[in-house]
Amino acid sequence: MSTITRFAPSPTGRLHVGNIRTALHNWLLARKAGGRFLLRIDDTDAARSREEYVEAIRADLAWLGFAPDAEYRQSERLAKYKAAFEALKAAGRVYPAYETAQELELKRKIQLGRGLPPIYDRASLKLSEEERGAKEAEGIAPHWRFKLDHYEPIRWDDGVRGPQKFDAAQLSDPVIRRADGSWLYMLPSAVDDLDMGVTDVLRGEDHVSNTAVQIQMFTALIAAQYAAAQKPRFAHEALLVGKEGKLSKRLGSLGCDAFREQGYEPMAIVSLLGRLGTSQPVEAFADPAPLIDTFDLSTFGRAPAKFDEVELARLNAHIVHQLPFEAVKGFVPEDFTPEAWHAIRPNLEKASEVIEWWQVVTGPVPALDFSDEDRAYLREAAGKLEWSGTPWQNLTGALKQTTGRKGKELFLPLRRALTGMDHGPDMKELLPLIGEEEARARLERAAA
Ligand code: GLU
Repeated sequence: MSTITRFAPSPTGRLHVGNIRTALHNWLLARKAGGRFLLRIDDTDAARSREEYVEAIRADLAWLGFAPDAEYRQSERLAKYKAAFEALKAAGRVYPAYETAQELELKRKIQLGRGLPPIYDRASLKLSEEERGAKEAEGIAPHWRFKLDHYEPIRWDDGVRGPQKFDAAQLSDPVIRRADGSWLYMLPSAVDDLDMGVTDVLRGEDHVSNTAVQIQMFTALIAAQYAAAQKPRFAHEALLVGKEGKLSKRLGSLGCDAFREQGYEPMAIVSLLGRLGTSQPVEAFADPAPLIDTFDLSTFGRAPAKFDEVELARLNAHIVHQLPFEAVKGFVPEDFTPEAWHAIRPNLEKASEVIEWWQVVTGPVPALDFSDEDRAYLREAAGKLEWSGTPWQNLTGALKQTTGRKGKELFLPLRRALTGMDHGPDMKELLPLIGEEEARARLERAAA
């Protein structure tokens, strides 16, 4: 059976680093196995779902380079959930419940006050036919709960957490359908995973208790002959936190739009998130192939993964230093050349900074102050420009001979006069780009 994974965001906001990481890991898991990666839009919550977010999710995945092999939308599959619901109902695994939200809250408070876990007491399950009739005669429309089997042990071997065991009696029967007929997350997700042949559910550890419930749902759906498929394997990854160890608000809103705006390369994000929280070293990869080859759930740790933007910036610089000219062709001026890219590239943290450095080549550059001594030196330099072969070596070689200067004294005034800056790309490569006439003009202006 070939591997099928899915990423199942609710389109109620933009993707943030945490979701992006989960999506990436699902994509890597599928690619490594030569399988398929699905995008499932969990949009059963019509009031909170927005089309603009669906589009943003697609665009973000495409930008990051892990576009899905197929896309599904829960809002188009409501008939399936109804069929599954009816099958579970016929099998006695679904029951109507009549408590209001306030009643449930009160029960919770009482249980907590007595030091008991706030598990739903199944009061509605215990109602007689008559009592139920009376509720409905009063005009109370029921919501629906899935009836957990308290005698069926819940176990799975988690791809990250190892063997897991839950006692169904310690869990509440989950509400799966609201009184207005709309669906909560739990059942549609299980139905979809079966229908779409999902083999591996990889998601955040905040879903562990959902998995416990869904395992019984999968079994019940298969037993009710709703589906012939097998239930998937499960893996829950530790959550992502900021470097200070907390899930900050900033991290919760940090997504592809911010990354793009700040000029990060998609591969920097992929390189970082691919291995963050695993025992494998985070490295800057120019393409995802090595991440695919080495992807291994058994290297995932249980401790929260720490996201650090400084690390992202470092990876980004490494990736920019390897980017081919083609990658920047789209946003550089027409006269910008591959030679210019090679000269400037090692100096960049973000590819977009190339524009500022190109300005240093084309000019005008800021006029800096020089001492009298340096001005004399620069005047001499203007007369010594020799454009055959390697102009920078010619110039500095000649000046060394005639002035006896060396090191910083020899190089820095030239760099400052030629670029208006104290640091920057290798002058060997930069000077030919500036050109003879312009270089002489800059040296003469500095000497004046
Ligand atoms: N829509 C759910 C979420 O965003 C999906 C969880 C899952 O089953 O992967 O949390």
